[in-house]
Amino acid sequence: MAVDLEPDPVVADLARRTADFVREVVIPVEERGGGVVRDDSERVRLQRAAKEAGVFAPHVGPEFGGHGLDMRARAVVFEEAGYSLLGPLALNIAAPDEGNMHMLELIATEEQKRRYLAPLAAGEIRSCFAMTEPAPGAGSDPAALSTRAARVGGGWRIDGRKWFITGADGAGFAICMARTSGDPGDPGGATMFLVDAGNPGMKLVRHIDTLDESLYGGHLEVLFDGCVVPDEAVLGEVDEGFRYAQVRLGPARMTHCMRWLGIARRAQDIAVGRAAERELFGSRLGDLGMVQQMIADNEIDIAAARGLVLQACWELDQGRSASQATSIAKTFSAEAIWRVVDRSLQICGALGVSGDVLLGRFLREVRPFRIYDGPSEAHRWAIARRVMRRHDKAARP
Ligand SMILES: Cc1cc2nc3c(=O)[nH]c(=O)nc-3n(C[C@H](O)[C@H](O)[C@H](O)COP(=O)(O)OP(=O)(O)OC[C@H]3O[C@@H](n4cnc5c(N)ncnc54)[C@H](O)[C@@H]3O)c2cc1C
Repeated sequence: MAVDLEPDPVVADLARRTADFVREVVIPVEERGGGVVRDDSERVRLQRAAKEAGVFAPHVGPEFGGHGLDMRARAVVFEEAGYSLLGPLALNIAAPDEGNMHMLELIATEEQKRRYLAPLAAGEIRSCFAMTEPAPGAGSDPAALSTRAARVGGGWRIDGRKWFITGADGAGFAICMARTSGDPGDPGGATMFLVDAGNPGMKLVRHIDTLDESLYGGHLEVLFDGCVVPDEAVLGEVDEGFRYAQVRLGPARMTHCMRWLGIARRAQDIAVGRAAERELFGSRLGDLGMVQQMIADNEIDIAAARGLVLQACWELDQGRSASQATSIAKTFSAEAIWRVVDRSLQICGALGVSGDVLLGRFLREVRPFRIYDGPSEAHRWAIARRVMRRHDKAARP
């Protein structure tokens, strides 16, 4: 399978401008705030600056103010945005909004696009995606979905508890996955609902204290308690929610990899900068063999992850499901990115764990990526099952 790795000149130019914007505008804000923005006016300021620089929301179609980048083009631009923890927020390509925009563009009605996608793409509102539930509900196994939506006159009533819902605090709306048929454990029967903020049946229970802090709006427990929504709140078709989740999750997995690859590169740059200036045992740190090995392994991990992501993006751009390729790329990247940040921190010694550089913050931010968008073990399980199925099919007489 031939993969053309050369971005077209328009994409290359956008990536260059994104890199300049991140270096000149975003990184100073990031370093001042330790990688975390909690103040909405700061978010708005960063997004306004991104609009002025012409790099805002590049993924959405031109009718929503973007460039309609395909997945391979996103890989190039998003990695540049991800060079700072705040780059994706500034460009309006952070999770979960970016994945939600992608899905709304594909399956929302014209009215839903006008009401939800247009203001989301413009940065006027934020959103969240509510799928995961406390045990025994949906987690690695989405079929365990136990939040229910039952028909009521002219609409639906949603009841259930969700948690780890990123960005729920301050979101203008939630996309909630609820079971409209079957029982927990059944592979189908889910529907997606658009629930407006302020719906009295959607209650923000608490902010969950987590290792990571840079994803804007935090991670929340959310209770749907007699939450009534109209028929127009159904996103796509009733009972097709799991199929749509795949529309969102495959690409969203890849865009997470792209953004975190930016952070891996930044960590490597910080470490290499340190290795070039620090003198130890009569030589530069970067000329000592074991440090050279860490620098080389970082370079290998970054290049390999990028290659796998591009391969998966190419398959997605061909309209394929790319489930095997995205699982492979996600699993490898999440672990490789962790290794790169960890080695970079090691190269910097005590400086690495201090607040004087952001490596400790990066480490905390990338660790949960081995869990969300499918834990490594769930992906390995799925990868191996597909391989066994392929073997069984080939072995059949
Ligand atoms: C920072 C963060 C942000 C998140 N944001 C969102 C969000 O915005 N919206 C949302 O809906 N969810 C979100 N999640 C939830 C995330 O999608 C789930 O954590 C993930 O799907 C795993 O589910 P779980 O936590 O219930 O773990 P479980 O399903 O309980 O799995 C626990 C562990 O079991 C192991 N395991 C899983 N499957 C297998 C297998 N097949 N074989 C062997 N071992 C296995 C893995 O080690 C896994 O870590 C977020 C999570 C985090 C940490």
